Amino acid sequence: MQTLSTPQTAPTAPEFDTTIHRRKTRPVKVGNITIGGGYPVVVQSMINEDTLDVEGSVAAIRRLHEIGCEIVRVTVPSMAHAKALAEIKQKLIQTYQEVPLVADVHHNGMKIALEVAKHVDKVRINPGLYVFEKPKADRNEYTQAEFEEIGEKIRETLEPLVISLRDQGKALRIGVNHGSLAERMLFTYGDTPEGMVESALEFIRICESLDFRNIVISLKASRAPVMVAAYRLMVKRMDELGMDYPLHLGVTEAGDGEYGRIKSTAGLAPLLADGIGDTIRVSLTEAPEKEIPVCYSILQALGLRKTMVEYVACPSCGRTLFNLEEVLHKVREATKHLTGLDIAVMGCIVNGPGEMADADYGYVGKQAGFISLYRGREEIKKVPEDQGVEELINLIKADGRWVDP
Ligand code: SF4
Repeated sequence: MQTLSTPQTAPTAPEFDTTIHRRKTRPVKVGNITIGGGYPVVVQSMINEDTLDVEGSVAAIRRLHEIGCEIVRVTVPSMAHAKALAEIKQKLIQTYQEVPLVADVHHNGMKIALEVAKHVDKVRINPGLYVFEKPKADRNEYTQAEFEEIGEKIRETLEPLVISLRDQGKALRIGVNHGSLAERMLFTYGDTPEGMVESALEFIRICESLDFRNIVISLKASRAPVMVAAYRLMVKRMDELGMDYPLHLGVTEAGDGEYGRIKSTAGLAPLLADGIGDTIRVSLTEAPEKEIPVCYSILQALGLRKTMVEYVACPSCGRTLFNLEEVLHKVREATKHLTGLDIAVMGCIVNGPGEMADADYGYVGKQAGFISLYRGREEIKKVPEDQGVEELINLIKADGRWVDP
């Protein structure tokens, strides 16, 4: 169940403040999940099954949801796909449970969006593609009249969708992509964060004129510095305009493996640390299930969500009195199910106890063949190294903080 984050007390002097103060945003409901409004940062991903494969899509959505993906996105390239969503939603309810679903609508997708809006909780449109104008190779200017004419076309196309979502109490993501800005935005603002932000604002204004505010904004780019700048500028512009829409963060096409994960973190972490971002997706060129642990690790490392044990371990050095890598692995295997605990594994008593931060329990090298167990900063007992993990478990059990895996 989703619960509101508990506000922590912040120290008075800002330079000593280690709390992340999340930007105040309006709550936007997507099925049974709320994005923004002080709720924990929501984790989402996207299946890569063909939406026409109803059985396969249901299974993929369920796989993701079961491992903690709170909102699942599916692609809807045609009317047939939009209709298949009705069946997918139904099957999920019959065979599993309600899962908040988002439909991704592509080029000139107005009719598709209108159909799919009946079956999902949120529709994602890309302002650069929603009314797609084929770029003219010989164009060297955009007159104000042309700019406005297309603006008018966008309004006409967007209105029915906005009204449908508004009347059903559903949500819209205005999902700008750096790589697919509309030609007229490129002419006016260039290939810049400003162009991305103006593109989102144009769509927001249309929504607001229809009294629709269940909006989430994203400004993704495949380069981390571009997306960081775009989200920061968006926050600044929204503050100036008195807007409080939640933000969906992501680095697109981050790739795979270690670098894909680092690249996503490089883009998401600076924003999240500044309190910006209400939902995240880590886009990896891997099975979508691989994205979820990365999202949780980023959120946990920043203290924004706690979904696993927090391990503090020293890098080991000449003073290390045991095989730290091996022991950390053993400790992790034995305790990784104890969500909510902080456990430190430190190589020596010279620096270990002081550097294990505020861990709940510590496993610290004492002397050759012996380790010491700590509860907080208090040394509890010295035990032979080969009994270390077992005794650590006994200590956690004695404190009533153990649960069986
Ligand atoms: S805690 Fe001790 S063993 Fe670990 S890195 Fe520091 S000095 Fe070395």
